[in-house]
Amino acid sequence: MSTVQLVGLRKSYGNSEVLHGIDLSIAEGEFVALVGPSGCGKSTMLRMIAGLEEITGGEVRIDGRAVNRETPKQRNIAMVFQNYALYPHMSVRQNIGLNLKIAGLQKPEIESRVMDAARLLDIVDLLDRRPAQLSGGQRQRVAMGRAIVRNPAAFLFDEPLSNLDAKLRVQMRSEIKALHAKVATTSIYVTHDQIEAMTLADRVVVMNQGRIEQEGTPIDLYESPANLFVAGFIGSPAMNFLPARTGAGGTEARLGDGTVVPIASRAGLPADRDVVLGIRPEHLEIVEAAPIITGIVEFVEPTGAQTQVSLKVGATSVTALVQGIRQFKSGTSLGLRVAPERVHVFDAESQQRI
Ligand code: ADP
Repeated sequence: MSTVQLVGLRKSYGNSEVLHGIDLSIAEGEFVALVGPSGCGKSTMLRMIAGLEEITGGEVRIDGRAVNRETPKQRNIAMVFQNYALYPHMSVRQNIGLNLKIAGLQKPEIESRVMDAARLLDIVDLLDRRPAQLSGGQRQRVAMGRAIVRNPAAFLFDEPLSNLDAKLRVQMRSEIKALHAKVATTSIYVTHDQIEAMTLADRVVVMNQGRIEQEGTPIDLYESPANLFVAGFIGSPAMNFLPARTGAGGTEARLGDGTVVPIASRAGLPADRDVVLGIRPEHLEIVEAAPIITGIVEFVEPTGAQTQVSLKVGATSVTALVQGIRQFKSGTSLGLRVAPERVHVFDAESQQRI
């Protein structure tokens, strides 16, 4: 188990810089998820930590030691890929033990480490099968087994679940979490799926265009997104954004049509400032009397436990998520309320949270 530190990490391909100086410290045993849209630089960063990609600038440190010039093997980091990279002609036992064999360990030692990993992952009865005789989830466990036997300084996961169907993905997510609870190896997990990141990680790092937008616990990111990008990226369905202008006193803002939305008082909120109000769909309540905002129903999507209602508030599309099965006709007018402390306020120009 080790610490991993990135200091001013940069990466260029030719003239194009794709990572612009990343600073990140990962504690021993911590599970950190890197999340962001496709192309933001997540995989590149992971590959640089693993030693599979040259470092253009800055440093990768493992346990405080700069490893820029070390080979992947010297770094002793285990990478779990989405395609598992299992050898089809080898048994599960041979696949798990392969790296130990290459490292020159003796047979009894290999056998005992493979058994320990197989017990931990509950795949003892699969040890003599070939990868083709395994389900997707079982292959994933074998890939994890191969990583675990090496007793690595850290695990790196590159979208390991993206090949699996939805049900299996949820199951494997729980398994990875349970496994981390057992072995507590420092883990860095790349995904574009914010729900995966939020459910798995102790800390989530949100990236965008080669930069870190925000890092924090899942709850921090959900409750206090630092800017519009993070606010829109974290949470599903996505946060609603309503253009508005602050009133005097810092306790209200007005939408374009003059609708007044009460907001929790914030020190230093300037009056007459163009802002964007952020309201999560689950914080909009549909009310019969005394609405704050009025919307026209566009369509309704029941999912059983919840109903997602899409509305127009002026020219802005707004989603409300309500509990249970509810029916509303499209074209009808609905009243909405939100608690003032649930309204996020962002500066329209800088896009930062106020
Ligand atoms: P992510 O994992 O977040 O989807 P990547 O790390 O794969 O993003 O890519 C980051 C950026 O670097 C993208 O713009 C991508 O096109 C570029 N890139 C990745 N690999 C190479 C490469 N070998 N040569 C040139 N550009 C690359």
